[in-house]
Amino acid sequence: MTAKIIDGKAIAKEIRGDLAKQVAELTKEGRQPGLAVVLVGDDPASAVYVRSKKRACEEVGINSLVHRLPQETTQKELLALIEELNQDPKIHGILVQLPLPDGLDEEIVINAISPKKDVDGFHPINVGNLHIGQEGFVPCTPAGVVELVKRTGVSIAGKNVVVLGRSNIVGKPVASLFLRENATVTICHSRTKDVAAECRRADILIAAVGRPKLVQQDWVKPGAVVIDVGINRVDGEIVGDVDFEQVKKVAEAITPVPGGVGPMTIAMLLKATVEAASRA
Ligand code: NAP
Repeated sequence: MTAKIIDGKAIAKEIRGDLAKQVAELTKEGRQPGLAVVLVGDDPASAVYVRSKKRACEEVGINSLVHRLPQETTQKELLALIEELNQDPKIHGILVQLPLPDGLDEEIVINAISPKKDVDGFHPINVGNLHIGQEGFVPCTPAGVVELVKRTGVSIAGKNVVVLGRSNIVGKPVASLFLRENATVTICHSRTKDVAAECRRADILIAAVGRPKLVQQDWVKPGAVVIDVGINRVDGEIVGDVDFEQVKKVAEAITPVPGGVGPMTIAMLLKATVEAASRA
């Protein structure tokens, strides 16, 4: 068997196309969605992410405003900007690009964003809403993972989903989302006794550990769906957490890296911004 390759780029493009139509409608009603992106300091990787977010917003017609603040910005100055954005009726989503420079407290900064504009879904109120099954914003990468699985035509209810990784930005929220879809969910982490054995029980396996090619062919049940969230730089090349060439021989469907989950993250950010504007 050779797995179906799940084309995240194509699926994300389809989503952006649908969003562009919704944005056009909202704009006609005088409610053009607006996203404020706050970038503090001069981390080159963050600058690249912010540029691609801005470009993606422009492509679907979302008004995006990038606030570039110097490295030496104080917590007080950053919080003042967030408060201003919280009050701005033209801004429906606020994203503070992480990581923040030393001296700025990420927790305090995230908690200052209005939960109604927290399109990244990191505010504790949105985290809580996800866990108790109430409406709110969901972190973009986990939302993209579930959307990819659904759009591939895979049914989730009743399936065994194994999530490798328990971070607050990927592992835990992705597990909650699959639980919400009525899957039976197992979360593995660095202290799990036999990760390979747990993985072999998965109908849907989500790898989010940040360990290049950790998931081997004999960790995967024949016919499983494998979603690789990992982004690892090895000898100048980007590889996932799954040994793609080997695992595709046994999986039913698999995401490549790059071109799988990555493009979905920004698509989900745009979707959340459009939702925020529709709710406002
Ligand atoms: P993280 O915060 O470093 O968390 C990694 C998790 O993996 C931890 O829970 C850790 O367990 C677990 N882990 C580490 N080694 C393990 C092993 N050998 N077996 C089982 N579990 C193990 O990473 P993250 O932020 O969740 O990101 C994970 C990966 O996804 C990274 O490669 C990152 O670059 C990528 N990522 C991609 C996107 C995207 O848009 N595609 C977005 C975000 C992240 P402990 O908790 O016990 O330490």
